[in-house]
Amino acid sequence: MYKYDENNVFHRILKKEIPADVIYENNIALSFYDIHPQKRVHALVITKGLYTNFADFVSRVDAQDLRDFFVAVAKVADVLGVSQTGYRILSNTGPDSGQEVEHFHVHILGGERL
Ligand code: AMP
Repeated sequence: MYKYDENNVFHRILKKEIPADVIYENNIALSFYDIHPQKRVHALVITKGLYTNFADFVSRVDAQDLRDFFVAVAKVADVLGVSQTGYRILSNTGPDSGQEVEHFHVHILGGERL
């Protein structure tokens, strides 16, 4: 069982308490640019549901929302124009990963040779 802490920055973005440079949004996901881009293209896709990390997400989400979330990730790659050139998705999960924000999210990295 994971304990979700509502004082994280992505929860505040979801509540519109702090701004984000939004790329795409649907019923399950919100995507915006990473504030400290590591590559030429660096976006984040977060769930609207409150999950601490990937492991928490897959253990509790239903099949439809699981599918819709990853379809949204692919859609964001389309919007960013990296679907053909290629990109990397990653999700830091837990202490050894260096996860900074404890709200489940996927990074999309691309726009250059990785
Ligand atoms: P992680 O280490 O996987 O938890 O990554 C968290 C990411 O969130 C980092 O790449 C940060 O640069 C990014 N980040 C933190 N605060 C913001 C913010 N307000 N808007 C956009 N990205 C953010």
